[in-house]
Amino acid sequence: MRLRQEYEKAEYKNIWVVAEILSGKVQPVTHELIGAARPLADQRNSQVWVVLMGSGVTSQAGSLFTFGADKVIIVDDERLSGFVDELESKVLVRLIEKYKPETVICGATTRGRALIPRVAVMTNCGLTADCTGLGIDPENGDLLQTRPAFGGNIMATIRCPSHRPQMSTVRPRVMKAPEPDLNRTGETIQEAVEDSDTAKIKRIIEIFHSDETVVNLADARIIISGGRGMKGPAGFDMLRKLAAKVGGAVGASRAAVDAGWIPYAHQVGQTGQTVQTKVYIACAISGQIQHLVGMQSCDLIIAIDKNPDTPMMQMADIAVQGDVFEIVPEIIAQIPKL
Ligand SMILES: Cc1cc2nc3c(=O)[nH]c(=O)nc-3n(C[C@H](O)[C@H](O)[C@H](O)COP(=O)(O)OP(=O)(O)OC[C@H]3O[C@@H](n4cnc5c(N)ncnc54)[C@H](O)[C@@H]3O)c2cc1C
Repeated sequence: MRLRQEYEKAEYKNIWVVAEILSGKVQPVTHELIGAARPLADQRNSQVWVVLMGSGVTSQAGSLFTFGADKVIIVDDERLSGFVDELESKVLVRLIEKYKPETVICGATTRGRALIPRVAVMTNCGLTADCTGLGIDPENGDLLQTRPAFGGNIMATIRCPSHRPQMSTVRPRVMKAPEPDLNRTGETIQEAVEDSDTAKIKRIIEIFHSDETVVNLADARIIISGGRGMKGPAGFDMLRKLAAKVGGAVGASRAAVDAGWIPYAHQVGQTGQTVQTKVYIACAISGQIQHLVGMQSCDLIIAIDKNPDTPMMQMADIAVQGDVFEIVPEIIAQIPKL
């Protein structure tokens, strides 16, 4: 699929969003990506298509139109239950070859990070992973793919001028999902898994979910995060108590994760998860840029730290100076009285 002639580029049209499915349900990142793709497609006079692959997913196509999709390609097959990246990538490559999208975007989720690199290799195309911003050159359709580079110290905008499709993964919760327009509809296209897709692929026998490794920070409304200043796993037990009282989730800085006090699934930041909660409480986290890029879009940021001059204390909406081991137990004690 390498483009050797400029005219081949013109054959590629429309922006595709690969829907994120978890336990058979379309995930919010899909709506965020449709919202991001809509203005880009409008600038190119093209369309937003969503690829909906999974088992028992057909009924969810309608809601995708309400967020801005024009067409939904449905591949509904029980062999797509769970997630087999080899199978999904073969199906997606076949669809790309058939319909020739100009751009393919997908969530930078565990699933997207496994799927899209395979597709990029199989189609001999470029991929920009973990984008935090997308734009488009309306003249030639080059996607302007912005992502942190050099440890988060600069934001780089990457183009893919000579290959189509161009592909990006985009972090969940970086883009805001549009309000659904319940009157909006579109067209569906039914596609199937072919026997050739399933040849020589691994088979999932069972999927385990462990509370310690599956942490849905992206959907939490309140996150209580701890850093190196929590001093050990017991400090995180204290944060779990606070999280349980307010119905929140527990996050962490990389320093705490690297120290082995809490599993990686809780890490917020450049090499962890990006979150966009109503409230983010940073406990003893200094706020280095690699952490800030993962949480700076939260609506209300509260920092608790001994040092009033840290970047986190400076950027917080509410900065509480003091010892986290005195302040957090006091908050926990006060909550039933609020
Ligand atoms: C390529 C790269 C990627 C990275 N990705 C990430 C990432 O995804 N996420 C991430 O978090 N980091 C990431 N980092 C690491 C980042 O640079 C910082 O090292 C890390 O975020 C620091 O964690 P911290 O704030 O918990 O620790 P520190 O910077 O050591 O801060 C600890 C804070 O605790 C305070 N404190 C100590 N004791 C108490 C107390 N009793 N009460 C109140 N306050 C107290 C201190 O005053 C201090 O402000 C990355 C680094 C690199 C190079």
